[in-house]
Amino acid sequence: MPYKIDCIMEIANKYDIPVVEDAAEGMGSKYNGQVLGTFGRYGVLSFNGNKMITTSGGGALICRNAEEANQVMWLATQARDSYPYYQHTAIGFNYRMSNVCAGIGRGQMTVLNAHIAHHKHVQKMYEELFKDIPGITIHKQPTTGEYDSNFWLCTMTLDPQVKIKGQENAYKEVIKTAVGGAAGVIHQVDSPTTDCQPNDNVEALRVWMLNKKVECRPVWKPMHKQPVYAGTDVYTNGVEEEIFKVGMCLPAGPYVSDEDVRYIVDCIKEAIL
Ligand SMILES: *Cc1c(COP(=O)(O)O)cnc(C)c1O
Repeated sequence: MPYKIDCIMEIANKYDIPVVEDAAEGMGSKYNGQVLGTFGRYGVLSFNGNKMITTSGGGALICRNAEEANQVMWLATQARDSYPYYQHTAIGFNYRMSNVCAGIGRGQMTVLNAHIAHHKHVQKMYEELFKDIPGITIHKQPTTGEYDSNFWLCTMTLDPQVKIKGQENAYKEVIKTAVGGAAGVIHQVDSPTTDCQPNDNVEALRVWMLNKKVECRPVWKPMHKQPVYAGTDVYTNGVEEEIFKVGMCLPAGPYVSDEDVRYIVDCIKEAIL
């Protein structure tokens, strides 16, 4: 979902702050007809496996001019000075995309528009099928004309008073298996709960859906509630903590068919007490 670009750029320009746009999810989203990633000093796109298109992993940095692109590529290719041997005047990285991955990306470009259209279609279906279900709100696009979301992610919120089957068992057990997206890696924890987590009914719905062979996930835990950032400064009005309690991501990728969407919505309806 495009951010309020005009407002951010106004502040950035006033104080001369360079904006680096994290448009990882935003490929194909537009603001006033212009694609995301092209507003800031730099734009970042992700081609991770779950994004709008994939190169298996990696991404792209959108630069404003050839000079900056050259500088970035220099840093991304080990920052070698022009000698026949390795000489470094700066610390470089090995961050460039391999030609094999880039080749996959070129192939993926041919399905980009179809993927965007699919995500928008799935979003429309969720909006339609959930419209009369009390307690569930599908996150929609602002109705003012400048926004054109790619709907890479379809999300809903679940009102706290909605009761879900099995809710009394939410967070009773420590998860012992790998969690979604962790590539089989397990990092064992000793408590089933933390001081900032989705509501019991959201967790119960996640578990319910998993038993229906549908993976729904929470939205993102706020950075300042991550234990690794404990004690760092935070400026917030608390909105992100509130959304984390009630939010849930719904399946929307290229292989999610119309029939799947109807099944998902039916399962969620069935879960409500
Ligand atoms: C996916 C994502 C990232 C990370 O991208 P990777 O290519 O997986 O490292 C960063 N920011 C946002 C907003 C994302 O959605």
